[in-house]
Amino acid sequence: MTMKTRAAIKAKFGEPLLVEEIELADPGDEEVLVKLFATGICHSQLHQIHNPDGPTPTLLGHEGTGIVLKAGSKVTHVTEGERVMIQFVPRDLPEGMTTANRTKYTWNGEEHEAGVYTWAEHALLNEQMVVPLPDDVPTDITAIIGCAVITGAGAALYTAELKPGDSVAVYGVGGVGANVVAGAKIAGADPIIVVDLDEGKLGYAKELGATHTINGGDVHAPDAVKELTGGGVDYAFDAIGVEAAFLQSVESVRSGILGVQRGGTAVIVGIGQGDLPMPRMFPIGERSIIGSMGGTARPADVMPNYVEWFKEGKLPLEKLVSKKYDNLDQINEGVRALEQGEIEGRSIIVYDTP
Ligand SMILES: [Zn+2]
Repeated sequence: MTMKTRAAIKAKFGEPLLVEEIELADPGDEEVLVKLFATGICHSQLHQIHNPDGPTPTLLGHEGTGIVLKAGSKVTHVTEGERVMIQFVPRDLPEGMTTANRTKYTWNGEEHEAGVYTWAEHALLNEQMVVPLPDDVPTDITAIIGCAVITGAGAALYTAELKPGDSVAVYGVGGVGANVVAGAKIAGADPIIVVDLDEGKLGYAKELGATHTINGGDVHAPDAVKELTGGGVDYAFDAIGVEAAFLQSVESVRSGILGVQRGGTAVIVGIGQGDLPMPRMFPIGERSIIGSMGGTARPADVMPNYVEWFKEGKLPLEKLVSKKYDNLDQINEGVRALEQGEIEGRSIIVYDTP
């Protein structure tokens, strides 16, 4: 049996997304059919939308929540009728696999393949792309756990493995940067210094746990970071992905001390383009640089932790989501607002389908 649903489709580069009907078949053995509750709108989709070489048609979105309507015969970690989170990182791949298998959908009479997607009222997904969502938490704001939280908070908690008292600087308070701040706070990092060019976003960062904020338009931020910390931070996070943010994060990391201790670490979270220039003195001070890819950890292991931290009041999802749209038809407006820098943290779409 097949079902019809609506999805946002990048049909042609340079044109607005279409919201059109697609057809989904019953789940294969290792697939689940999910009816979506909500989805986040993430910068990665802007990169996809603006990539002239990206494949078309493409279904988009990679974090969300929903309920499993049907599950294939080999799916054991979730059952029909169970609530789930959808995340862009495979939850727990079997040995030897490096990616989850893709699923199929039909649009305009032609069959296409998709990986994960959440900008759709229903989605046919490989079972790797969902993790159970407990019954006692909301289904809307939890939609951002599947990318913003695992990427941002995960960079702090699982890539950097921050310890209480580590000093931290975070460059950029977008959806991911806001979550780096939240993760650093959960870890007990202190101070948590946040750099952005937007005063509104700096005020927002304080609500999330920043102990100090610096407007990078007023001062050379690394100088201010060094002054606050007596020479630089243990960990600096680039949560933007442009050259200036990279260079300033690198410059904010403390040097090692000869014969005494190693230098600090720059953690590159933001996705950018082009090469990154590296100041020679950075490695000479025995500093390190690491990338963070989806927050390092396996979703099956850590997504339940984020739900617990939310329940304990330590992960303020209600603040990390600052805007809610109520219909998939608003997707192009949501994309525009994110692009224009109007969104603090994350915006989400809450589906109104019965
Ligand atoms: Zn994302």
